[in-house]
Amino acid sequence: MRSLLICLLLAACAPQETLPVPLDADTFDAQRAWDDLLHQVELGPRPAGSPALEETRVWIASELELMGLTPVREDFQADTPFGAYQMANVYADFVTDQAPADEADILVLCAHFDTKTLNFRFVGANDGASGVAALLELARVITSQGPRPMTYRFLFLDGEESMRQTWVDPDNTYGSRHHVEQIAKRGDNLRVRACVVLDLVGDIDLQLTNETYSNSELLEIFFDAARKDGLGQHVDGPPIPIKDDHIPFLRISIPACDLIDFSYGENNEHWHMPSDLPKNCSRESLGVIGRIVLLGLPTVEQRFKSR
Ligand SMILES: [Zn+2]
Repeated sequence: MRSLLICLLLAACAPQETLPVPLDADTFDAQRAWDDLLHQVELGPRPAGSPALEETRVWIASELELMGLTPVREDFQADTPFGAYQMANVYADFVTDQAPADEADILVLCAHFDTKTLNFRFVGANDGASGVAALLELARVITSQGPRPMTYRFLFLDGEESMRQTWVDPDNTYGSRHHVEQIAKRGDNLRVRACVVLDLVGDIDLQLTNETYSNSELLEIFFDAARKDGLGQHVDGPPIPIKDDHIPFLRISIPACDLIDFSYGENNEHWHMPSDLPKNCSRESLGVIGRIVLLGLPTVEQRFKSR
């Protein structure tokens, strides 16, 4: 009896462990995401500064509006090796009901919508369109299921690709660097508790790379969720360090991870090649990435919300 009393007292004094608030992963509509991938491909190549890129941006904003969100256009001038380019990110916040809007913890989900400038017709079905397609459908699912413990920022990034053929800093990640500068300027950087990047997630043979710059706790949450859901063959790819839009977030100490399959076809043969086409991607892979993210997010909220 006495030991029972002690147990009860200990339980009462222990910090309250908040349970993850589940998301219904079954409502991710892979066909809808696939249609969004095809739509971007139909717009043609979408390099920095192009009319097709502006069309993509306007379309993303209108999709966010259809979800009841208020898209913000983040215009900026990028100084590139080829002179100044006008670029613009688009994002929308799905605000939590658990804190005042300007104080709430923020979880950023992002993808880049530009395609690389190349000297052949490059439509970026996987490198560009897949991340955007998955992110839009994730936003539809998340916003349809009621407020979350944290504010979600759906962030669509311009200028991820380097303007030169080769990736030489700082000629890359223009959009994410600009966004990170803005949040640091506003003092919001301390509220952004985690950032998850989606890139190259449409590969017909999807296996996420164990990207080694990523915050390992964050990456493991998604990989663990996948394994437990019978999707283990789609994670635990080879360990590779990849510079992507998560790097600017990591630089200002925001935990960030890159959900990326950096093995697109045999020996990455379709990456930045004319063969980055819908036929080398699949609706099923978009469904898999959507499911992995939705199954992992509740644990991300639980572990990364201010503690
Ligand atoms: Zn690329």
